[in-house]
Amino acid sequence: MTNLRAGVDLGGTKIQAVIVDSDHRVIGQARRPTPVAGGPPAVADEIAATVREASEAAGVEPGALAAIGVGSPGYVDGREGTVAHARNLSDWEGVFPLGSTLAKALGPPVFLGNDVNVAVEAEFRLGAAQSYASIIGVWWGTGVGGAIILDGKLWLGRGAAGEIGHTVVRLNGARCSCGRRGCLEAYAGRGAMETHARRLVARGRETELFEIMEKRGRTRLSSGVWERALDREDELAVALIGRAIAALGAGIASAINLLEVEAVVIGGGLGTRLGQAWADRVARAMNPHLFVPERAPAVHAAGLGDLGGAIGAALIAEGEMARRVDPGV
Ligand SMILES: [Zn+2]
Repeated sequence: MTNLRAGVDLGGTKIQAVIVDSDHRVIGQARRPTPVAGGPPAVADEIAATVREASEAAGVEPGALAAIGVGSPGYVDGREGTVAHARNLSDWEGVFPLGSTLAKALGPPVFLGNDVNVAVEAEFRLGAAQSYASIIGVWWGTGVGGAIILDGKLWLGRGAAGEIGHTVVRLNGARCSCGRRGCLEAYAGRGAMETHARRLVARGRETELFEIMEKRGRTRLSSGVWERALDREDELAVALIGRAIAALGAGIASAINLLEVEAVVIGGGLGTRLGQAWADRVARAMNPHLFVPERAPAVHAAGLGDLGGAIGAALIAEGEMARRVDPGV
């Protein structure tokens, strides 16, 4: 057995696996598209294949890994090793034993965590938020996820804490993917922004967004498409991102008024892609809503980039191992 661990970031479009050493250095990685048919068993097979490929790149047998961590969307029960309601994955509504399925396929013990929680924990321990004790992570992508770390510890509430995307920024506002109205995600989520853009185009608004999308062979407005449109100063893209930033400012500032943590880390597909200049814009949008503006929190773009989620997943494998060895930890 080695002291190498695998971390897997399970996303709606891709599965990213890394192999890390005891200093959290990535020594091998692989990325594969997430299967869009076949349900949880097909996804589990593909995760196993991605871990094997990353292991090969690192020159290690998968069976020799100390542990494997997986960051998954949906409702993750780390103790039971199950995932349910992973709605952006195919046919994944029910409870599936992802942990035991992967352990059987690959050998080492498997530990599961929520995808946003593990990515934020990675930024806290290894990335942009290393110098703070308490932070909020805001994961700005298709939806708007979040995680809270208080005095060095992930705050899970009764299991679902951190859903900053579903804080209300406007009473009776836009319809959210969760079915409710006025949520932050209904203004800032990439999915909601695309729906809104399509509606405006149907009413005659002009934009290059969909041209750029088609040129890139995409069927959705990806983070890269938004970035390109912003570079071209496309009027609609600028307006919709501005609307998203205003909503993020209100939602995040409200969370700060409640918790007064030292820093905010903005990651996710759009957050990572748009970087620090846009994190600074979010900070400016927060300012008018802050109860103690002279003590505004630091706002950082995520520092670990694309691999942050997978590196964070490898961290949960380490944490769980430590807990096993010493139950007092
Ligand atoms: Zn909502």
